[in-house]
Amino acid sequence: MEKVTATPTQEAHYSFFQGVERNFDKAAKYTRFEAGILEQIKACNSVYRMNFPVRIGDGVEVIEAYRVQHSHHKLPCKGGIRYSMDVNQDEVMALASLMTYKCAIVNVPFGGAKGGIKINPKKYTPLELEKITRRYASELVKKNFIGPGIDVPAPDYGTGAREMSWIVDTYASMKPGEVDAMACITGKPVSQGGVRGRTEATGLGIYYGIREVVSVKEDMDKLGLTTGIHGKKVIVQGLGNVGFHAAKFFQDNGAIIVGLAEYEGGIYNAAGLNLYQVVEHRKTTGSILGFAGATEFKNSAETMEQPCDILIPSALENVINGSNADRIQAKIIGEGANGPLTPEADEILGAKGVMIIPDMYLNAGGVTVSYFEWLKNLSHVRFGRMDKRFSENQYGTILHTVENLTGKSVSDVERKVLLHGPDEVDLVYSGLEDTMISSYHEIRDAWVGLGGKVDMRTAAFTVAINKIGVSYEELGIFP
Ligand code: GLU
Repeated sequence: MEKVTATPTQEAHYSFFQGVERNFDKAAKYTRFEAGILEQIKACNSVYRMNFPVRIGDGVEVIEAYRVQHSHHKLPCKGGIRYSMDVNQDEVMALASLMTYKCAIVNVPFGGAKGGIKINPKKYTPLELEKITRRYASELVKKNFIGPGIDVPAPDYGTGAREMSWIVDTYASMKPGEVDAMACITGKPVSQGGVRGRTEATGLGIYYGIREVVSVKEDMDKLGLTTGIHGKKVIVQGLGNVGFHAAKFFQDNGAIIVGLAEYEGGIYNAAGLNLYQVVEHRKTTGSILGFAGATEFKNSAETMEQPCDILIPSALENVINGSNADRIQAKIIGEGANGPLTPEADEILGAKGVMIIPDMYLNAGGVTVSYFEWLKNLSHVRFGRMDKRFSENQYGTILHTVENLTGKSVSDVERKVLLHGPDEVDLVYSGLEDTMISSYHEIRDAWVGLGGKVDMRTAAFTVAINKIGVSYEELGIFP
């Protein structure tokens, strides 16, 4: 296999994409597909590498950017756009391929894609970022690499709703009259066609996923853990959109956040850290360090090595690798980020009996809710608009009948809860919850079915390969 330049944190002998391919191969042997089909599933179908000029201050900067469509077995392709100095072709290819498997696992009917712009977004003013983003969007339009039925980007590391609204506006202005233009991208602000619940979706999905994992007594017994989230000690690495929301849902539901890590360092307190106070402290002082009562680590990665039940790496890839995996003390690792563990780390931690919940399942909440946003944009109506009042009237009739029959009546507070018809956010949360629960059991069933011979990642890959493989087979004769 050809050697590709590794990202700085990558194991020396193979790249991030090759790491994903290794994981794929491990699982492929437990599936029934012929070699050609497996090769097609693994390959990156289209790689668009671009350079474009943008005037920054007094000069012109040449910006390097990518969009990779890994798979077209279902359309549109789907995946975020990241802004980071670590962006390179190999990284975007790896992330695009993970999107293919992720979408298959959570039954989101899309192919995988990913985009990246090699910039440090902190270096630019909002106006400069807008220029770069709009230029990137117009490059995608020119090459037919974006569109509601073609390829639908979303936020990723270093981007958010603001960038998505610049992109949808650029797309719509280049495609006047396209009635579905809003569906060309997801993760938009609600005022620009976004869906309620998308911002916190990845973090919430991580919470729902791990809550399901720790509800299985048989598995928790093996790890020496009790069932349930309450009282579990959790370390979260990365306090961006994903890490912050994951930590928030864990804390709000009774877990104890014992460690938090950001790029400037990390903090740990076995008795618990209050996430909201830490965020406030970081806002006022500019750093997570110096938080009262916490032990601190100038080397952020050391935070992940502290005692805890659950470790959630939620920033970039390869942070747990051959050099630090044996010092990790967590019993469960939930991959909030894409690719936070190298295959070496997988092996070392697997041998120690650590349960690793793979990225392509655990952080799929983002793309799941993106799917809901896309559906909303295509249907041009807010979820709940047509049926909320109808449901409330129905509940009212039922309650009234029950009260008449029993001669008893419920309190005003109970009445309010019982009569509540679903708002958009309620429907999004329940759709996400159901997705995370049912997808976990699909993976766990495959894992159990393989008789404990493989780890959870390999089981997840088999689930994904089986779905994508059938879809390719049923395509029939290839042209
Ligand atoms: N960037 C997110 C991910 O890696 C979301 C992708 C999407 O919503 O399309 O899953």
